[in-house]
Amino acid sequence: MPILSHQEKTRLEKITPLYSLDFKCTGCNKKPNEIDEYIEAAEDLGMTENEYVLQEEGTYNPSNGHFLCTNCYINAGMPAADVNQGTWVAD
Ligand SMILES: [Zn+2]
Repeated sequence: MPILSHQEKTRLEKITPLYSLDFKCTGCNKKPNEIDEYIEAAEDLGMTENEYVLQEEGTYNPSNGHFLCTNCYINAGMPAADVNQGTWVAD
């Protein structure tokens, strides 16, 4: 499980082309538009499910588009994100 510093995560978000990303939960292999919590949240905010994950999902990995949905995050034992150490992201 990689830990990215906030600086590195921000850098990757800027340099990684979105079309190269494979948006999916690495727990259940679903895409954001197949997961109810993202469908509803994205609709509320007027954005696409991928945009929502990119902007709001804390486990989102900007180098490949992978993340853990809430259910899978809980099943994974809620890997802690320490703001002083960096940010945990999905492999
Ligand atoms: Zn999942």
